[in-house]
Amino acid sequence: MRAEDTPLIRLEDYRPSDWLIDTVDLDISLAPQQTRVRALLGLRPNPAGQPGAPLILDGDELVLSEIKLDGATLDASAFTAGPQSLTVHAPPRRGFTLTIETVLDPSANTKLMGLYRSSKVYCTQCEADGFRRITYFLDRPDVMSVYTVRLEAAKAEAPVLLSNGNRVATGEVSGSDRHFAVWHDPHPKPAYLFALVGGALDHVREDYVTADGQQVELAVYVEPGKAGRAGWALDSLVRCMRWDERVFGRNYDLDVFNVVAVSDFNMGAMENKGLNIFNDKYVLADPQTATDGDYASIEAIIAHEYFHNWTGNRITCRDWFQLCLKEGLTVFRDQEFSADERSRPVKRIADVRTLRATQFSEDAGPLAHPVRPRAYKEINNFYTPTVYEKGAEVIRMLKVLIGADAFKRGMDLYFERCDGTAATIEEFLACFAESSGKDLSHFARWYEQAGTPTIVASGRYDARAKRYTLDLAQTTPPTPGQTTKQPVVLPVALGLVGRDGDLPLTTGSSAYADDGLIVLDRPSLSVVFSDVAEAPIPSLLRGFSAPVRLELDLSDADLLRLFSADSDSFNRWQALQSVATRALVAAGRPGTDGAVLLAKAAEIAGALDRFLREQGLADPAFAAQVLRLPAPADIAREIGGDVDPDAIYGAHRSLSGAIGQALEATLVGLRDTLAKKAAYAPDAASAGRRALRNEALGLIAIAAPEAGARLVEQQFSSADNLTDRLAALAAMTLIPGDAREHLIGRFAEIYASEPLVLDKWLMAQALIAEPGTLDRVKRLMQNKAFSLGNPNRVRALIGGFAANLTQFNRADGAGYEFVADMVIALDRTNPQVASRLLGSFKSWKMLEPVRKDLAQASLALVARTPGLSRDVADIAERALA
Ligand code: ZN
Repeated sequence: MRAEDTPLIRLEDYRPSDWLIDTVDLDISLAPQQTRVRALLGLRPNPAGQPGAPLILDGDELVLSEIKLDGATLDASAFTAGPQSLTVHAPPRRGFTLTIETVLDPSANTKLMGLYRSSKVYCTQCEADGFRRITYFLDRPDVMSVYTVRLEAAKAEAPVLLSNGNRVATGEVSGSDRHFAVWHDPHPKPAYLFALVGGALDHVREDYVTADGQQVELAVYVEPGKAGRAGWALDSLVRCMRWDERVFGRNYDLDVFNVVAVSDFNMGAMENKGLNIFNDKYVLADPQTATDGDYASIEAIIAHEYFHNWTGNRITCRDWFQLCLKEGLTVFRDQEFSADERSRPVKRIADVRTLRATQFSEDAGPLAHPVRPRAYKEINNFYTPTVYEKGAEVIRMLKVLIGADAFKRGMDLYFERCDGTAATIEEFLACFAESSGKDLSHFARWYEQAGTPTIVASGRYDARAKRYTLDLAQTTPPTPGQTTKQPVVLPVALGLVGRDGDLPLTTGSSAYADDGLIVLDRPSLSVVFSDVAEAPIPSLLRGFSAPVRLELDLSDADLLRLFSADSDSFNRWQALQSVATRALVAAGRPGTDGAVLLAKAAEIAGALDRFLREQGLADPAFAAQVLRLPAPADIAREIGGDVDPDAIYGAHRSLSGAIGQALEATLVGLRDTLAKKAAYAPDAASAGRRALRNEALGLIAIAAPEAGARLVEQQFSSADNLTDRLAALAAMTLIPGDAREHLIGRFAEIYASEPLVLDKWLMAQALIAEPGTLDRVKRLMQNKAFSLGNPNRVRALIGGFAANLTQFNRADGAGYEFVADMVIALDRTNPQVASRLLGSFKSWKMLEPVRKDLAQASLALVARTPGLSRDVADIAERALA
């Protein structure tokens, strides 16, 4: 497939389906190589479609073995069947049934889309368009059907048989070693939410009663022997169900809710109705095999998929252009859940770090696209940070702009009005326009316009008049296909910080609320605050109220004052990050003077020292975030062009080293104070203490390798949990030498039978910022811990390497060549994993000329490869454009 040959699908071309499918009866007889699927479809003409249109069903690599219309075998001339579609030329102009039989080989399905077999478990992944790999269908989200599914399999091979909805029958198939289960899902759903699971699985379960009194049986299914690691997922499920009842008034709506963990999965997890299927990485947890970060991700993703039951399933998307309708909103909901369960400011900081690292970098490069794309060649390439994370930011801004009450009423209206439908962004926004009485047509531009806006802010204080004037201006850089940009609606939450904290805000202008919110909805704006008693320092974008870059004309001294005095935790954190970013941007340009950076390091260290001594123990999770500098990749993005990764990494390393040296005594003392007293618990407070201790360890390792190595050794040997062990390993990867290699070996021995832990081991090595890493990665590909067939292994080792700023971007181009080769190899078996990996090239255009040419050459090599999947061809084409 060459990308040029693939049709572009456009939002403006949307037409309702000519046919609807009201009911689907599936009879699936599972066998490893020969699975028989018999589908009985109840069809009728769509009143909104073209009368008399042919019936064209989607397929993907299908083999048809039988087709009947209203029970009678169809004449060969009445239909055309190929692997990619099935057309019934002149179907009756009334309701009728179609019986279709297809035969599949789940064991040969390495794409992990449709029905496949992973470590002896049958499972499915149908979003976005995998259902058409199971049977011919109208595989589009606005065709919603009631499913009844009979699953049959050998008892020994698949004692557990699950599908969507409620189980209505089970039994033995007489005279055989097989059994069956019948599932019925009363809620009409699009095919992408269909799922089945068959296998020998253990489970943990719990009874749940919804707020409206419905009894629900919850269960988490895992590989045999792993039930002991399923408890946290189940616990998270119960908590997020309660939260959705309390905060969004949403109750669950079936008798059962099942979660299944599988070990080969292309993404994180999938919200199939009543049967969520997960990458096992986001289910399995115990203190020995999961880190604090894993516990938090599991909690968040369990919640995310569960929340989809309302935002995604009950209300689904009309077409895939509306993907952010369910994804952005559901990410917003899971972020809020985690914020309520843990620390709100710390969660916000972590989310903003991710947003900047993933979405801002996407927005700044050739793969930039709007939150609602206008056109696509391969929809699976649009499950992106822009659709998900920026999509969530848009919802967050909406809430800030219209206020929490109107937001709540708008959500209620949306649930009421759109329940059972396949909806659009317009329908969603209409609910909030109505609930708030505000015109949201300008706000809607967030869905159409790509790129990260920059706000330039400057302020003036007139001491005599006691007036403070704040000038704000916005611009958005051009992105592919959008050369000129319009202003967007930017909620700027702010405060004016004086000597003793926040000053009262008086503008006397009704256009700008005096309660700390300026809405910058035009190119520029000046706001005059009166009765300002002293020269203030503006604290802008509190809580990161809009997903933008901010250029502030504050001195480092002012920023350091915000760091100590701002009442907004996010901006306290941001202030110090800004000081460090500024220093690193200056030092990251080749040929800059190191002495300037060292002076800045002393200043930052001084502020940190005071902070850690006075408040480090008050909120360790926050302190850990404060201690962590912006990543080298953030600095590269800030510099934005002619980027030399080695110079940036070098600057980062010297700043960290200098800060670490200045703080060594404080950090060592802090680590002692924080040393654990009780047994491991995954709660946010305990995790925060470990995070601070481990952040300190990393700094010490850079600043004082010998002392660092000793601490690492101690921590590794005495740790009773993976978080501390892995942090020790990660710190040790910063210290070249035999001790490091020895520790890497010890780690592998301890976790030899734990693939998910070894993924972290692979990744820690892939991220080493040294020239030997490429060879190490190639060597590790031969290790028995690695497999090119498993997406988690590939993401850990190859994906880890592609995220290694200095080594992926080696000046000799060998990093690009390696990753390009891997993309080409993976594309033959799993195009989705391959195209994700190719996305690692998204920032190539900002590199200095030598690397830029080399990266382009590797991309071009991929693009030229014959027989590429649509997934990879599309990314290659857009990345090169
Ligand atoms: Zn989702």
